[in-house]
Amino acid sequence: MPIRCNMDNGVPGGVYLCQVNEEISCGACCGLYNVVDPSFEALMEMLTHRTDTFARVPRDMDAILAFKEKIEARESQKRPFPEFHHCPYIGLVGTKRSRVGCLLHPVADGNKGIDFRGLSLYGGMACRVYFCPSYYHLPRAFKEIVREAARDWYMYGLAITETKMLSTFFREVERRLNQPITKEELLKDKKCLETVREFLELKLHWPFRPDPFTRLGNYFFGDQLYPNPPIHYEAIGETTSRYDIILQELVSHFDSANELHRAENLLDGLIDSLSSNISQML
Ligand code: SF4
Ligand code: SF4
Repeated sequence: MPIRCNMDNGVPGGVYLCQVNEEISCGACCGLYNVVDPSFEALMEMLTHRTDTFARVPRDMDAILAFKEKIEARESQKRPFPEFHHCPYIGLVGTKRSRVGCLLHPVADGNKGIDFRGLSLYGGMACRVYFCPSYYHLPRAFKEIVREAARDWYMYGLAITETKMLSTFFREVERRLNQPITKEELLKDKKCLETVREFLELKLHWPFRPDPFTRLGNYFFGDQLYPNPPIHYEAIGETTSRYDIILQELVSHFDSANELHRAENLLDGLIDSLSSNISQML
C-alpha cells in the first residue's frame, strides 16, 4: 500500500523500509508479487509498460481511472493470493526509473505535488499509514543489514517482508557469536555481505519447494488468510527441524530425510560462515 516519501523519521521502528535509495524500494504490500508470473523479467515488462502509459495520462480523475481499466484488461487478473489486492498503479519511479514505486504519489513524475492515491482501491489514507510487520518486529540492525545487502528492488521486496525468516537467521548468528550484530561490523567485510545476499536469495532459488509452487511473494497480513503449509516431518521419519521457522517461511517440501538434511546443512553453512567471518573481525 504505501510508498511514502522518504522523509519521515517517525516510522515504527525508526528505520524507513519502503524507499531506500535510487535502486532499492519495495512494493510488496501493494501486491507487486501477487501476479501469475512474478519473475524479474515479467515484472519489469509490466512496470515499464504501466510507467510509459501513465506518463501520457492527463492527471484528472477520469483519465486515471481509465488507465486502471486499460491496465487490468491487458494483464492477467489471476492471482496466487486471490484476496490480496494487486494495485495497477505500481510502476517505476526515480529519475532513472530504477526502482518500484507508486505512480500516484505526489512526488512521482508528472504529479506536480498532487497526491492521487485517493483514487486507489484502498484510498489515500491507507496507502499513507500502512506499515508491514517488519517495521514493528524486525530489530533495527537486521533492517539496516537487509537494506544494504539487497542487490536490487526485486530481491529487496521479496526479502524485507520475511520478518520471521530474517529474525530467526540473524538471531541464530547472534546466538553463536554470543553478542548482537551490527550493520557496520557485518557489512564492512565482503564475505559477510555475500553470505547475507546468498541467504536473501534463497527466497528466489530455494531448491526444496513443493511442485507446483505459485506463491513466491509473501502474504504477511494479520488475518493469516494464506498461511504457509506445515512441513510433515513424521512422513519422512524425522522430528521437527531446528530450522523449522526458516524452512516454513521458505515454503518447503521434503520427500526424504536426506533432503531435509541437505536443506539444514545449507542453512548451517550460511550461518557458520557468517558467524566465523564476523568473529574473526572482533
Ligand atoms: S496507490 Fe497503489 S501503488 Fe500507490 S501506494 Fe497505494 S496501493 Fe501502493
Ligand atoms: S511491504 Fe513494508 S517495506 Fe514494503 S512497501 Fe509495504 S510497508 Fe513498505
